[in-house]
Amino acid sequence: MKYRYLGNSGLRVSEIALGSWLTYGKAVEDQTAEACIHKAYELGINFFDTANAYEGGQAEEVLGQALKSYDRSSLVVATKVFFPMGAGPNQRGLSRKHIIEQCDASLKRLGMDYIDLYQCHRFDENVPVEETLLALDDLVRQGKILYAGVSEWTAAQIEKATGFAKNWRLHPLISNQPIYNMIERYIEEEVIPVSEQNGLGQIVFSPLAQGVLTGKYKPGGEIPADSRAANETTNMVISSYFDERVLTTVSKMNDFAQDHGMKLSQLALAWILRQPNVSSAIIGASRPSQIEENVKAVDIKLTDQMLSEMEQILEP
Ligand code: NDP
Repeated sequence: MKYRYLGNSGLRVSEIALGSWLTYGKAVEDQTAEACIHKAYELGINFFDTANAYEGGQAEEVLGQALKSYDRSSLVVATKVFFPMGAGPNQRGLSRKHIIEQCDASLKRLGMDYIDLYQCHRFDENVPVEETLLALDDLVRQGKILYAGVSEWTAAQIEKATGFAKNWRLHPLISNQPIYNMIERYIEEEVIPVSEQNGLGQIVFSPLAQGVLTGKYKPGGEIPADSRAANETTNMVISSYFDERVLTTVSKMNDFAQDHGMKLSQLALAWILRQPNVSSAIIGASRPSQIEENVKAVDIKLTDQMLSEMEQILEP
């Protein structure tokens, strides 16, 4: 495994992280979830991502249980707050009340004394960003969280928040967690440059487009029975990738990966890690063998020639 600093912070995270959305506490049974988390740790993954809202807190519980035998200082545990945790008006969003209450609730579910990285899962248009940042800063001062980050914030939102944090000498935001993969590249335009200027690193989610960038879904082919797309409790977002243009591009990229002696999943992750502002790519896994395959990406170096041939496949 290789490690990178998360943004301008002193925190080092594995280039591949393991996440738990739609998998642990949901589609993947607990024993297999634990086997995946243990396999990841054995392979040098130190960075684990979850959220309070994943299965109403069950993902945090499964993750905390699986990690409890490890030395806490060898782990970087990230979770998030924003999405509703109840029907009440204060059980959602980025108010001081919800952030502080959910931090305590996440700590209980994880069975941990502190969270390494606490992330605002989305921007809250209804709460002054100053209120959110001051609440996060208080949590850092109390030792309940060590660092704060955001997820899917726009360049303008990042700029506004980091400006306020600097002026008020608050603990800085160190990361943004956006979607990024060969199919969805919007962060290249503004989010990456603004993050670089302000010291945030990207920890990107769905780097394999939920499994589409492994090549297992073929244009006009059968959907594999044991896949996320075949399960109607987990296929709500992945189905948006199933248009012929996307699957044809993926199929060409699969041939390109094979020609270069690697799996498409490994090529897709190595391509993401070519970006210096990306600190880590958060994969999901429904079985340990997927993690074994995917982590090999950290040893792949893509040449300029390969990158330019890949651009031609991506933008015909
Ligand atoms: P990926 O793009 O890595 O997709 C993961 C899924 O792809 C796996 O569960 C598995 O599904 C399949 N897969 C992975 N590797 C292989 C392989 N080698 N061969 C075949 N199939 C494979 O990431 P996710 O979309 O799962 O997101 C990763 C994490 O990012 C989440 O767990 C979460 O922590 C975070 N996230 C954050 C969001 C946010 O808003 N901040 C939103 C979404 C995710 P299967 O075997 O079932 O087909």
